[in-house]
Amino acid sequence: MSDLINPYSMAIEQFERVAKLLDLPNWIIEILKKPKREIIVHVPVVMDNGEVRVFTGYRVVHNDARGPAKGGIRYHPNVNLDEVRALAMWMTWKTALVNIPFGGAKGGIKCNPKEMSDAEIERLTRRYAYAIADFIGPDVDIPAPDVYTDSRHMAWIMDTYSMLKGRPVPGVVTGKPTCVGGIPGRKEATGRGVVIVAREACRRLGIPISKATVAIQGFGNVGYHAALIAHDMGFRVVAVSDSKGGIYNPNGLNPRKVMEHKKTTGSVVGFKEAKSISNEELLELNVDILIPAAVEGVITARNADRINVKIIVEGANGPTTPEADQILYEKGIMVIPDILANAGGVIVSYFEWVQNITWTPWSLEKVRRELERILISAFNEVVKLSKEREVNLREAAYMIAINRVSEAMKARGLWP
Ligand code: NAD
Repeated sequence: MSDLINPYSMAIEQFERVAKLLDLPNWIIEILKKPKREIIVHVPVVMDNGEVRVFTGYRVVHNDARGPAKGGIRYHPNVNLDEVRALAMWMTWKTALVNIPFGGAKGGIKCNPKEMSDAEIERLTRRYAYAIADFIGPDVDIPAPDVYTDSRHMAWIMDTYSMLKGRPVPGVVTGKPTCVGGIPGRKEATGRGVVIVAREACRRLGIPISKATVAIQGFGNVGYHAALIAHDMGFRVVAVSDSKGGIYNPNGLNPRKVMEHKKTTGSVVGFKEAKSISNEELLELNVDILIPAAVEGVITARNADRINVKIIVEGANGPTTPEADQILYEKGIMVIPDILANAGGVIVSYFEWVQNITWTPWSLEKVRRELERILISAFNEVVKLSKEREVNLREAAYMIAINRVSEAMKARGLWP
């Protein structure tokens, strides 16, 4: 995220714009502008060299009017309270938009996992889980993976929490390994969802998939699976990138081969069958579909003018600033907002949670079928409202989501 953009201000700005369109009662606006709960923990960890370092971690619940709060945990040097607040608010809208019975939350630890050993990361994760244990749980707040966290971290949190409770509690986190209650298809789910909505958008715009070119920023969980599934579905993935830079081949890249290269060298950069480009250049490539799938705040008023694609599918959370959004809208670019485009992860997390609390396993086939059903229905609903109200897709998605949350708050009322 650029130092100049405060993600929480951006999230509030987006919310207020839609609150006006919806004519929400003032008390609901005031409540929704602030998170319900913010926890800051300072977590001591014995490093491998015997020294003790203290890390700062956060867990923010934005809203739980519609069900237990839900959201990932991020490990990154730039993690800060305002970023976590914004991400928590976006989770509230996301779960409401796809109509699953969850609220919104997010967590994070300010750390640089790239400079830490696996043992240090495990101790950090377990101590953080212990510190927030009173505030999470299957009926309360359910963490999941996010940037630089994955199924291993979730297994450690599930284990630590279960030890504290004295019984196995798989439903406390989602995104676990399948051997401890994880669900098949969770790892690929966000990337698969990104590609499902890209495919639906192509159908609407009359772009044949076999002719559509795709550039993807970020080659982590979301970016890699989006690249792989897009490639397998017949799209031509011409560029991908990671934090070290990007690669471009107008004839197309094979994501599996790029991943092999990344596994051996640590980056996509240097892949033989492509030329090197910067992350900025990737965003400005002349392609049909751009998928930002790394960090927030990368499409801004400074570069939006130079973006010349037909569709942007926001794999990352908050990649487009409100000023950039306006510019892209005026240019006629279809922007599929994050809360729809990357909702695949939380949808399958919901399936995992249902599987855990009912102790009933789901098949991969059922996961994929239900994911498609929910996403296509949300996509159609958003496109329909955007036409009816003559607003862009983000505003339409926000209107549907915020209205659902508001209805739940009105039904519950303000106690006491
Ligand atoms: P990840 O850690 O697996 O991957 C992140 C990728 O981004 C890596 O390839 C990294 O090298 C790259 N990156 C980091 N900083 C960068 C920079 N400044 N420029 C370009 N590339 C950079 O994370 P992820 O889970 O794939 O998450 C990516 C985004 O998607 C985040 O915004 C996250 O909140 C969002 N998201 C993730 C999920 C999920 O299920 N994992 C679900 C919804 C949304």
